[in-house]
Amino acid sequence: MVDLQGQYKKLKTEIDAEIQQVLDTSSYIKGPVVDAFAKDLENYLDVKHVIPCGNGTDALQVAMMALGLKPGDEVITTTFTFIATAEVIALLGLTPVLVDVLEDTMNIDPEAIRNAITTKTKAIVPVHLFGQCANMEEIMAIADEHDLFVIEDNAQAIGANYRFKNGSVKKAGTIGHIGCTSFFPSKNLGAFGDGGAIFTNDDIIAEQMRAVANHGMKVRYYHDYVGVNSRLDSIQAAILKVKLPHLDDFAKARNRAANYYNAAFASCDKITTPITASFTDHVFHQYTLVLNNVDRGGLQMHLNDKGIANAVYYPVPLHQQKAYRDSRYQDGAFPVAEKLAANVISLPMHTELTEEQLKYISDAVLGFVEN
Ligand SMILES: *Cc1c(COP(=O)(O)O)cnc(C)c1O
Repeated sequence: MVDLQGQYKKLKTEIDAEIQQVLDTSSYIKGPVVDAFAKDLENYLDVKHVIPCGNGTDALQVAMMALGLKPGDEVITTTFTFIATAEVIALLGLTPVLVDVLEDTMNIDPEAIRNAITTKTKAIVPVHLFGQCANMEEIMAIADEHDLFVIEDNAQAIGANYRFKNGSVKKAGTIGHIGCTSFFPSKNLGAFGDGGAIFTNDDIIAEQMRAVANHGMKVRYYHDYVGVNSRLDSIQAAILKVKLPHLDDFAKARNRAANYYNAAFASCDKITTPITASFTDHVFHQYTLVLNNVDRGGLQMHLNDKGIANAVYYPVPLHQQKAYRDSRYQDGAFPVAEKLAANVISLPMHTELTEEQLKYISDAVLGFVEN
């Protein structure tokens, strides 16, 4: 699905030098390069605070802990996402309130959010799925109206621009009260291990989050809150600092690959190619097709036989996951997500795809689907 070797080879000289620098100084934890990377990312995102942390799941957890959400508080999120989004809600004893997605963009449905709000609702967690933003203008309006926090799960859309109706533009993850991202190796900005970060423009929330991520302390060995230990290590920060200036080019390369696939599948009525909403860029963390009356398992076997990677993100919506079964949600509760889960398939998507590979992959897909 990804070609981490190919991308590394292109940046090897720079990356190796930065890693060597960390080894030479032995400043493995909270080294200067961690701050330097955070500053670079603040500038790139045009956001006041970037707080590096251990991974994207931690980012979501630290955000929710810092907001002081209490057991029983309801947090609304999408049922069609990676489990981490709802996992931290459940872990903190908060109540995940799941809602359906829109069929075209596969992102959370603002109308469904509106309908799910109760007096216990405290926060909304939109996920910018596969690399395009959820409808943040609507979501922020709903949040304002009901005095709710918005935490963007931006693990898949770092670098995407969001365009407001008044013409202003903001980066994904900097629109809500807090944005969370992951530097998992296969993400658009990937480290060589785990990593994550939290963004905010709010000084008070930033201070709380820094404290929570650091054992709940603001002054060393004085613990004002129950916190966690969540850090980005210096070697990962050094790698990310080299990669960040290339992030926009990475997105362009991903878009070129997506455009190739889109054109190849354009006249096939059994395949719906990704639909991008007008207010957002798509940075194609995943290139995900929706199949229409195609034997997906058969297609996967056909691709596997030809040595073509493929994956289903995600085969089971959260409300149908064993660990998250809940009497509030029966099968059929979220028909759009359930239909997508049964019909999506993601193709290889990364910065190093060649035209030859793209042709081989799309020919193979069409060879199965059109027979
Ligand atoms: C990857 C991902 C996460 C979690 O990130 P980790 O760094 O793996 O903990 C959370 N949410 C979404 C939508 C993701 O894709």
